[in-house]
Amino acid sequence: MTRQPWRGVTRFFSRAAGRRIERRSRPRDVLARSRHPLGRRDTSFGVATCDGPRVSAILRLGDPRLRAIARPVDLAAPEFPEAVARLHRALADFRAEHGFGRAIAAPQLGIDLRLVAMNLGDGPRTLVNPEIVRHSDETFTLWDDCMCFPELLVRVRRWTSISIKSLDEEGRLHLRERLPRNESELLQHELDHLDGVLAVDRADGPDAIVTRVDHDREPGRYATMVDR
Ligand SMILES: [Zn+2]
Repeated sequence: MTRQPWRGVTRFFSRAAGRRIERRSRPRDVLARSRHPLGRRDTSFGVATCDGPRVSAILRLGDPRLRAIARPVDLAAPEFPEAVARLHRALADFRAEHGFGRAIAAPQLGIDLRLVAMNLGDGPRTLVNPEIVRHSDETFTLWDDCMCFPELLVRVRRWTSISIKSLDEEGRLHLRERLPRNESELLQHELDHLDGVLAVDRADGPDAIVTRVDHDREPGRYATMVDR
């Protein structure tokens, strides 16, 4: 990552977007002044902004709430609609701020529910109680990233294709079979969050965790270390 603090521009390679990203970042003094409602500095993505704190704080690696096994969703529970709204708002905020971000799982916001919000560019979609029902024998490796530790990339091994079932917000069952590779690996990542599993737990080998800064210095070399 190349930081130019006075011009406020950050460039980095995003696995999520599959390309190099350039985004405008806030000057450090603005970040330093931004305060959490409880009075502490909050370094979570999407919280410290020039407009004040956002409601959709994404938890950071190390927060024990990321390690809990999430509860199945009860569609009739009074907290369900607000949880869905918070999740989509957080994803939209992240996309607006960073220019990428395809999905977010409820535990990333400290919401103890088996719930994933997605947007692959075709509009928001909600996956309630999603489950992998089938997967390919074939696997592949990739550099994975996560909104909970965006400064790291982790080489992980994922199934090349999965089939998944989930409910939508109205309780209708959806079965999506033999998903393509990019959606498969994304959903394996998000469903791991529902079980308290993070990409760092799946680090594939002793050289499988790298800072984004180091990766972006030699993207060609790191590209040779994964299947794609
Ligand atoms: Zn993640």
